[in-house]
Amino acid sequence: MDDLRDLYQEVILDHNRRPRNFGSVDAPSHHADGHNPLCGDKLSLTLKIADGTIENAMFNGSGCAISKASASLMTDAIKGKSVAEAEALFEAFHKMVTTPMSEEPDESAVGKLAVFSGVREFPARVKCASLAWHTLKAAISGAEIISTE
Ligand code: ZN
Repeated sequence: MDDLRDLYQEVILDHNRRPRNFGSVDAPSHHADGHNPLCGDKLSLTLKIADGTIENAMFNGSGCAISKASASLMTDAIKGKSVAEAEALFEAFHKMVTTPMSEEPDESAVGKLAVFSGVREFPARVKCASLAWHTLKAAISGAEIISTE
């Protein structure tokens, strides 16, 4: 289990150092800004959604390693997915990071995002890991600004 945790740690640090999909989409169809005042994480998410499919997703912003890595992995994970699939992924992710420590989290439906299962130990960090997802939900629903406060 320690080896797995080290691997998860590595993936998060790598995505923090070299975030994927960093920037903004040309002529986005959807956009939202997310803010986590507890930690100071800020991100701006732009999406290109056509015919119910997320064709492109990019983010900008600044924040802690977990918030950045989460936005990086999220944008990778949702590209090419339908809006409904992305929402289902958010549900599975949210369920995983809010599973009590006394229970085994279900990582089967989240793919690479399993690297965030460890944030369950640190409740304040759950907001960092979830910020990108709440921002995604806001962008899809047409809200422009979301604060997790
Ligand atoms: Zn943070």
